[in-house]
Amino acid sequence: MTETKLRDDICRFGRSLFERGLTPGSSGNISLRLDDGGWLVTPTNASLGFLDPGRISRLDAQGRLTSGDAPTKEIPLHTALYQTRAEARAIVHLHSTHAVALSMLPEIDSKAVLPPMTPYYLMRAGQTALVSYHRPGDPAVVAAIKGLAGRYSSVLLANHGPVVAGETLEAAVFATEELEETAKLYLLLRGLNPRHLSPEQVADLVRVFGISLPEQDGHHH
Ligand SMILES: [Zn+2]
Repeated sequence: MTETKLRDDICRFGRSLFERGLTPGSSGNISLRLDDGGWLVTPTNASLGFLDPGRISRLDAQGRLTSGDAPTKEIPLHTALYQTRAEARAIVHLHSTHAVALSMLPEIDSKAVLPPMTPYYLMRAGQTALVSYHRPGDPAVVAAIKGLAGRYSSVLLANHGPVVAGETLEAAVFATEELEETAKLYLLLRGLNPRHLSPEQVADLVRVFGISLPEQDGHHH
């Protein structure tokens, strides 16, 4: 895929996410890993709804800006996830309402912020880890993400928002949307004792669709 097409894809998905209210103001950012080891990253203080393909930050393999505007200040979040997920080619980070709300609930399991509620959450997002609260720009968040050792493609930063990796930008966007929608379902059903997927139903999905979940990884390796 040409870099021009990838730049257009970042703008197209960014606008779609923004217009659906999935990240407000100039929050949220997107990055793509390129074949030469460099990155395309959304600029700092840029709304995902109004990106200019020609001003997207282009970084070389060492992370130095080679063209475009200065990159998002949240680039360490992306770098930490790329470093532990060798197959990741794209990362989406949003400040999406329901996922942020979920991150503040007292009962959240840090190894799986959501129970297995729908097949598509498991198929697209897998299982999501909670990373405890860090002030924006705190380098300790990098260590926290690296501490998950690449077992999760999606993490939820407490009181902040999701960071989701995918093998393509489309995959990362769809996984982030599933995380947000499933967080919304969780909040709608909280206290109503809903039926979640049973362990047998989860095992069936894992087998049929080849889903890689952290526990399953633990059993196989
Ligand atoms: Zn953020």
